[in-house]
Amino acid sequence: MADIWSVDEHLADVLRAVRPLEPIELPLLDAAGCVLTEDVIVPAPLPPFDNSSMDGYAVRAADVEGATHALPSVLSVVADIAAGSGDLPTLFPGQAARIMTGAPLPPGAQAVVPVEWTDGGTGGGPVDSMLAASAARGGGGEVRVFQPVAEGEHIRGRGSDAQAGGVALTAGTLLGPPQIGLLAALGRGTVPVRPRPRAVVLSTGSELAAPGEPLGPGQIHDSNSYMLTAAAQAAGAVAFRGAAVADDAATLRAALEDQLIRADLVVTSGGVSVGAYDVVKEALSGEVDFRRLAMQPGKPQGFGLIGPARTPLFALPGNPVSAYVSFELFVRPALRAMAGHGEGALHRPRVTARLVTDAPLSSPAGRRQFLRGAYEPDDGTVRPVGGPGSHLTAALAAADALIEIPENVTEAAAGAELTVVLLG
Ligand code: AMP
Ligand code: MG
Repeated sequence: MADIWSVDEHLADVLRAVRPLEPIELPLLDAAGCVLTEDVIVPAPLPPFDNSSMDGYAVRAADVEGATHALPSVLSVVADIAAGSGDLPTLFPGQAARIMTGAPLPPGAQAVVPVEWTDGGTGGGPVDSMLAASAARGGGGEVRVFQPVAEGEHIRGRGSDAQAGGVALTAGTLLGPPQIGLLAALGRGTVPVRPRPRAVVLSTGSELAAPGEPLGPGQIHDSNSYMLTAAAQAAGAVAFRGAAVADDAATLRAALEDQLIRADLVVTSGGVSVGAYDVVKEALSGEVDFRRLAMQPGKPQGFGLIGPARTPLFALPGNPVSAYVSFELFVRPALRAMAGHGEGALHRPRVTARLVTDAPLSSPAGRRQFLRGAYEPDDGTVRPVGGPGSHLTAALAAADALIEIPENVTEAAAGAELTVVLLG
């Protein structure tokens, strides 16, 4: 195994090791945001019956041919058909049925005259709404029609949306709100999808106090586990945050064993460099490969498959910026691959941007640097936010992009064209 791994080698190794999760049948709302694993066939025509696209009158086209304001067609109103009506009268010549949007077209009707083209059954001039005239009436009376309609007009035909036997959605489709709506319209209660991966996030470090707790001497608040849990959620995972684990290998192993039961993937932070208390390394070496990556930040980290289910574990460095950059570059693609997303949807979008900076940026030789930046889509520029220090969480929070400085570049001056990772 290489002594130093490039960013691309490490990513390829991670993506080789992770597998899409086994499909499960989920209720529609639980399936939202998930990837469909089978084609969905249209079981019955959509809409299931011819229905009106307007509030108006269902008529026979010949009955209103040539109708004008001066010479309206006068039809007798034989029924009042609301959406959801089941029993429908047959329309004979000279007859109309008042009909609401979405209501089934009665047999014999060929078109719907919008209420605006009629007197609304008032017997007088046009009205804004039919409600005034005939709400209380189950049909009856007459309607004057002032304009002709063509056969089929203002009718949504059975199957005009989706034909029975057709493919509604193909396997691999990401189920967003419109797809969930279509599935519901087709009458599907559940669908087979890849589940959201369950990610467990654990911080290590005896210096860590929970946010909301006062700090003792030498303590800092645990920010990584919150940041990484939120990042896992944003990547589409169901994320669980464990309490911070003290720097003790046995404690860490016990915490991991507790958590493995509910994890498809584990992320730890801290304890992976070469210090005396680098317990993640101590607790997991053997199963997890600890390596040095040719990148900055994020040089030391571990990746491996642990426990009986060979659960992917990412041991990220403790510095918050290092942990976050590593998550974006390696963990997020892994989570998305497990969720069944295709190759094109694993990674954050990358664009080329022109660097705006007062002083040239320096970057270590042989390492790919990821600086925090603010991207300006209007003119395609990016400017650095804060310095390269991997403890700079305030600058990270002000950034929306990572500026990538390649391994073979040691200085980037204003105007340099650089790849930028958009963090969304
Ligand atoms: P380590 O990799 O454990 O040596 O940690 C490197 C640096 O990151 C140290 O300054 C730690 O205090 C800091 N650090 C580690 N874990 C966290 C955490 N969960 N939240 C905030 N800072 C952390
Ligand atoms: Mg530590």
